[in-house]
Amino acid sequence: MGNEKETPFVTAFLLMLKLFNYPLPGNIGDLFSLCQRLSHTMHLSSYSLDMIMDHNPRSYKSGNSDHRNTYDFIIVGGGTAGSLVATRLLDTKNKYKILILEAGSEPTWLTHSPFFNLFNWNNNDTTWGYYSSPQKGACIACRKKKVKYVQGKALGGTMNVGWNVYSRGNPLDYAAWVEATGDSSWSYEKSIKWFKKTENYRGKFDDFSSHGYSQTSTIKVTAQGIQPLVKEWLEGATHLKLNTTDPNDYQTQSLLKKEIWRKNLKITRFAQVNKIVFDSKHYAKGVIYRRNHQDIEVHANKEVILAAGVFNTPKLLMLSGIGPSQHLRDIGIKVKKNLEHVGQNLADQPTTFFGPVTVVHDKTFLPRRNLTYSTIIQYYVNQSGILGWDMLSGLGYYSTPSSQSPDHPNIAVTLMPMGVDPDTHKVVNTALSMKHGYMEKFLRDHKDNDAVWLAVTLARPASRGSVRLKNDDPHSHPVIDPNYFMEKEDVTNIAEGMTLVQSLTNTPQWSQVDAKLVDTQFPGCEKFKLKSLPYYECVAQHFTLSIGNIGGTCRMGKTAEDSVVNSKLLVHKVKRLRIVDASVVPTLPNGGTGTAVMMIAERAADMITDKWTHEVARHRDKSDSGSDE
Ligand SMILES: Cc1cc2nc3c(=O)[nH]c(=O)nc-3n(C[C@H](O)[C@H](O)[C@H](O)COP(=O)(O)OP(=O)(O)OC[C@H]3O[C@@H](n4cnc5c(N)ncnc54)[C@H](O)[C@@H]3O)c2cc1C
Repeated sequence: MGNEKETPFVTAFLLMLKLFNYPLPGNIGDLFSLCQRLSHTMHLSSYSLDMIMDHNPRSYKSGNSDHRNTYDFIIVGGGTAGSLVATRLLDTKNKYKILILEAGSEPTWLTHSPFFNLFNWNNNDTTWGYYSSPQKGACIACRKKKVKYVQGKALGGTMNVGWNVYSRGNPLDYAAWVEATGDSSWSYEKSIKWFKKTENYRGKFDDFSSHGYSQTSTIKVTAQGIQPLVKEWLEGATHLKLNTTDPNDYQTQSLLKKEIWRKNLKITRFAQVNKIVFDSKHYAKGVIYRRNHQDIEVHANKEVILAAGVFNTPKLLMLSGIGPSQHLRDIGIKVKKNLEHVGQNLADQPTTFFGPVTVVHDKTFLPRRNLTYSTIIQYYVNQSGILGWDMLSGLGYYSTPSSQSPDHPNIAVTLMPMGVDPDTHKVVNTALSMKHGYMEKFLRDHKDNDAVWLAVTLARPASRGSVRLKNDDPHSHPVIDPNYFMEKEDVTNIAEGMTLVQSLTNTPQWSQVDAKLVDTQFPGCEKFKLKSLPYYECVAQHFTLSIGNIGGTCRMGKTAEDSVVNSKLLVHKVKRLRIVDASVVPTLPNGGTGTAVMMIAERAADMITDKWTHEVARHRDKSDSGSDE
């Protein structure tokens, strides 16, 4: 950049930035509520506009003005998986008529900057506002001992609030899927084809056999390296003789943007699907959704595709009478099909923070120092500067000694270059729903320090939880219990992960930036020796959060006795009902579930196209059995 000639426009732009280079007035709390009010106003306007259009359909000039109620495919949820499947089905020559029903609307403008994205986490217009039930051995420092679940409620889904990390996981993760399903096509080697399909790789580890390079792909993957401390991160790991290979991140784009004007796609926003409708032969023939206080029934000629996410897909199945029969009876829902595994097997990667580790001046993001008019303008005009930093800038995987699986890491560590200033506790308390008092006390002596935090994630937890219905009201939140640390080995493993991080920050590479772990003990863990294993266990049990890598609630498997869907993602015991979202993963990959979900969605789109291309041929032969399994 330094060699490039400055145009008059660039000179004027840089001058303007200098003029505006002073901090915002007020504190971070004011900024939180200002952002929230602004985005709520935008959300309300968008809702009102939709409702006006509903009453005057002819004035709706987009390609979405189709008001029929029968489609080829109905996709429930326009999130990560739903929007990708729709995009691929539209790419075929078949001219399928597709309806996407999305409970939310558009993602907010806050989504664009990784830092401002944190402000989305409390936005009840664009997230579902879910919390877990109180945890017994975890989340002690969280409000009501509940973990906060950030689930996107807008086109683009949870990816809108995500960390931007593209990480597929370990081949052995997918070997477990092969074992669960008995279907070898789910192996990592065979799945590469679908990973590549989504990827437009521009990273540093070129390899045509494992990366996708198509410019028309949906996800642009670039190598990390622009941020300070990533160098120390990589060199410190090399010092510990750990591998440093293939770091990557992705930049989310709205997958559907270019599809929105197609005539055969209709996207209905503010449409919460509350029931799947079946005919007498157990074919999913459509859904009922609620919009503008009205219940509307729509039908699918071919399939109903569920992509409502890891909590709402099992919720919708149970509301429709498909789930554990005793539970459904207990809350007064008529059982359509008993499927014991709906809502079971919830796997979530518990995460805690190691740090803060203070470092030399000006190496990290300090909101009070770096959140200025000029950095905001620079980011929104030019997509550059400190607000473009990924909040998770370095990523590493590690096998703990207790796991006895050196080739299959069970810990993921991510570097977060966020300094500590007098408002940090407010950001943490609000974003992570922490109980008042803990962070205030913990950070009391560390103000205006450049620092990093290292998120330590138990990537392959042994504990399993569940999602259940609270009652038969579709608008009630589901009862979510991740059962964190119910298996003792989970606490031991995460604490061992923290010990590794400690040795990483003690390497000569980190000494060069004067890295020092603060010597204040986490409130509630004072009785343990700082930096000891029991101390780290205590921190993990107090300061527990979900990093959003969640799955398993409609797991894929062999039969109705061990799962909810088969390896073709079709729901057992009924017909023409498919699930394509994070709920189907049988076990969590140790990478990001979003990355795995995109691969699943790519595959699902191919399965659907294959099935219906053959179905047409079969129909011609008059041999349609109508059976899915
Ligand atoms: C904070 C956070 C950070 C993350 N960071 C990463 C990362 O860096 N890398 C990575 O790989 N993964 C990441 N993940 C995980 C990833 O975002 C999810 O696994 C993935 O987005 C799940 O996709 P999905 O299609 O299953 O669900 P979603 O993307 O959540 O889509 C579900 C959609 O369905 C809609 N919906 C729900 N119920 C209904 C209904 N009844 N009717 C109509 N619509 C409905 C929702 O509003 C939503 O739009 C992160 C998750 C979180 C929470």
